[in-house]
Parts: sequence; C-alpha cells; structure tokens
Amino acid sequence: MGKASEAMTQTIEPRVVHLTTRTGISVRRTLPTRQLRTIGAWCFLDHYGPTEDAGSMSVAAHPHVGLQTVSWLFSGQLEHRDSVSSIQVVNPGELNLMTAGVGIAHSELSEQSAAPLHGVQLWVVLPESARHQAPHFEHHEDLPDFEHNGARVRVLVGRLLGHESPAATYSPLVGAQITLGDDPVSMPREQGFEYGLLPVDNDVVANGTPGPTTNLFNIDDDSEIITISGPAASRVMLLGGEQFTEPMVMWWNFIGRNHDEVEQMRSEWEAGNQRFAAFEDRIGGRIPAPELPNVPLKSR
Ligand code: MN
Repeated sequence: MGKASEAMTQTIEPRVVHLTTRTGISVRRTLPTRQLRTIGAWCFLDHYGPTEDAGSMSVAAHPHVGLQTVSWLFSGQLEHRDSVSSIQVVNPGELNLMTAGVGIAHSELSEQSAAPLHGVQLWVVLPESARHQAPHFEHHEDLPDFEHNGARVRVLVGRLLGHESPAATYSPLVGAQITLGDDPVSMPREQGFEYGLLPVDNDVVANGTPGPTTNLFNIDDDSEIITISGPAASRVMLLGGEQFTEPMVMWWNFIGRNHDEVEQMRSEWEAGNQRFAAFEDRIGGRIPAPELPNVPLKSR
C-alpha cells in the first residue's frame, strides 16, 4: 500500500496464454503478473471464453499442492473429477472448490451440449496452518445472493457486506460476482484487505479509474470505500483478502515454500506416487510435469 500521494488504482492487461495442457482454448491471465503477484491469498486468475466451441476445455489428470482451485462459470458447464472420488458438474452460479492440501489430482471437461463456455479459474494459496491438510472437494449451489445498491451480489467464498459463503477458507478473503444495476455500487473496504476487480462483460469504472473489460483492476488506493459503475447488467468479479506474507514458490500446478519442496512434489507426480492417486475420467491419460528450470526456484 502506497502513501496517499502514490496510491492509485491501476489496470493490468491480461496475457493470452495458449495452454498446452488444454485443447483448443486460450486464456486471459491476469494473476500472477510482473506487476502483481497476489491479491490477498488469490494467486492465479485465468479468464476464458465465451467460446462457442463447447468442447474446448479438456484438461486431463494433473496434480495440485498447497492451494485451492475455484471454478466459476458465467455460462456453459464443466465436469470435475478427482483423486478423492469426486465427480461433480458445475453450472453458472455454482462453486466448485478443491482444497489440494498435501496433494490431489483432478481433471476438467467441458460438456459439448452446453451453452458457450465462459468462466474463470482461480487459485487461493493456503497458509502454513492449512497447507498440510488432507485434500478435499466441495460443491456449493446455495451461496449468499442479495441486492446491494441495485446490484446483484453473489458471494463465492469469504464474506462481503455481512454475507458469508459456506465454502472453506483459510485466510481472510472474499470472492464475489457483482451484476451491476443502474446506479454505482459502493462498499466499505475491509481493514487491511487488498482488492482486485475483473470486469467480465463491459468496461467499468472503479474508484474513478476507468478500465477495459478483461483487465484486472488493482484497487490500491487509500479510499475507505470501493465504488464500481458501468452499464447495467455488467458482471464483475471482486477479489480481496489480507496480504499474503509467507514465502511462496509457485511453479506449474504446485505451491511450496522452497525449491526442494516443489522438486519433491514434481518427482512424486512423475513417479505416480499415492500422494496423487489415480482416478477414472472420460478424458484418459495424465499430464506430465514440465522440466524444472536449471536454476533453483526462488520464493517471490
Ligand atoms: Mn487444475
């Protein structure tokens, strides 16, 4: 957080990433970037679609450690399967939340018959107190949904304006979808929280700063209120949380605290270790880990 004279809200352009591990789809990545590594414990943000190619998401089995994955759709349908025996379709407005803890493997497949695929994939880094837990998966359809300043607010995780999601969280944070009404939406900033905002459909203005759709606002100013305005029915994703201060090495699908931990995770995936148990899905196969770089991975 800068001093008042330096504080400002900036927008970050997405990088288009062609994922070799996903068929036919490229994503717009706004976390992590050079300018911004995390917003609270939010450490990864991919925005994809809308694409008419409903079969465009086919991610074969791959591992995760040390983080939670959040799957959230605006349209279309995805099927999740994992190594703790979960099989769960997620629809728009529903939350698929996977807590990897010490290790899990999963796959995701878009349904051919569904509407255009449009959604976000987010990761939340787990703090030391939560990263050694057993993996588990949650699906939530009954999420807080309320009107505020004429906007519709749906809370995926954490708490906003006194409404708390039932999803498991391990650090103070919030993730919410806000569908704007005719008037600006204002909400108090939680003490000590960092905030980001992703406009999904249209350009919006956040705390006086205009930003294009698909860019990520880093709302880094000293205002006690966050105000968002834009065309009615525009959806935005609000992300916030307490600054994550632990060491963090994020490489491929793993988050550890140092190089050796990540190297261990990688070798156990490559060896087919029980840490990442095998499971059946409709895709088949598994995604091999890339080679580690020749230089040791460093904490950010
Ligand atoms: Mn994944």
